[in-house]
Amino acid sequence: MTRKFNFSAGPAGLPDEVLAQAQAELLDWHSKGLSIMEMSHRSKEFVSVAEQAEQDLRDLMAIPENYKVLFLQGGATSQFSMLPINLLGTSGKADYIHTGVWSGKAIKEAQRFGDIHIAASTEHNNFFSAPAQSELQLREGVGYVHYAPNETIGGVAFDYIPETDAPLVADYSSSILSEPVDVSKFGVIYAGAQKNIGPAGLTLVIIREDLLGQVMPDMPSMYDYKLHADNGSMLNTPPTFGWYLSGLVFQWLKQQGGVEAIAEVNRRKAAKLYSFIDASGFYANPVAINNRSIMNVPFTLADSALDKAFLAQADDAGLLNLKGHRSVGGMRASIYNAVPEAAVDALIDFMAQFERQNG
Ligand SMILES: *Cc1c(COP(=O)(O)O)cnc(C)c1O
Repeated sequence: MTRKFNFSAGPAGLPDEVLAQAQAELLDWHSKGLSIMEMSHRSKEFVSVAEQAEQDLRDLMAIPENYKVLFLQGGATSQFSMLPINLLGTSGKADYIHTGVWSGKAIKEAQRFGDIHIAASTEHNNFFSAPAQSELQLREGVGYVHYAPNETIGGVAFDYIPETDAPLVADYSSSILSEPVDVSKFGVIYAGAQKNIGPAGLTLVIIREDLLGQVMPDMPSMYDYKLHADNGSMLNTPPTFGWYLSGLVFQWLKQQGGVEAIAEVNRRKAAKLYSFIDASGFYANPVAINNRSIMNVPFTLADSALDKAFLAQADDAGLLNLKGHRSVGGMRASIYNAVPEAAVDALIDFMAQFERQNG
């Protein structure tokens, strides 16, 4: 068995230690004679796993007590509609910042439910940057302001947290737990698990308690944050295996020294890769320097006719999933928490060699 270096944008690589532990416990969890997958979500065994995972996440992110943590299904995409359904409130209005594919999809979905205003867009700039605070045209009296701190496809990240009067809502799918964040600045933080947390199927929602209970009338129960919160995310059967595995990832992250420590590694990994790209005349990244993502690094080759050969040879060298998103082409290296620094070193060595042979 050889584990290769996986640069997938999502579902993404998981720490070897976590997978090994899940494997060791798979058939017989803690000598109970069955798998965690086969247990009732209401058993005391699973409830202890669920509570521990929540506590570890609270510790890692320093989540204040007046926030609920929900373990839901439906992916970040479900949140694109769940948010307006729950937070538009009596105004029926929200402001959105448009910085790429994912914030764009969130806007489209929200427009089905209310009066959505684009507070800023970097479309004129091919989404190669994020707007400055001074460029945000925010309205008064809206239900919330939405943005994506890290655009996974474009590799564009905000280098500040927007200041807003209305509750700030952030799609943290691809950058949650990559760097410390002050949760108290947000009304809602949400993330699909499959980028920087665990397996697909689990969606995390961290929501300030005073925002619960404003759901539009006549909506399905599954779309009411308060019902999920009141039932400890067990309104129905939660994604138990994803919850358990994410809990193992949280414990692994604590062992790495927590979010501060992994952030240092993440910044070092990203800095190495960007400085290699910038120093080369063969590779390029178009994103404004201060908006470059430390999680997703898109890059192009000088001649796109070489893309196929690059990907095939990378694959042979054990460097997987470097193909860029189908909407932008080129390459993308996603270097989430679970991607070791050695993977980035190996990628840079490979890129240098490929450039020598083809440049
Ligand atoms: C991947 C991603 C999504 C979509 O997530 P799903 O879980 O597939 O719905 C949304 N937003 C961002 C920023 C993402 O990276």
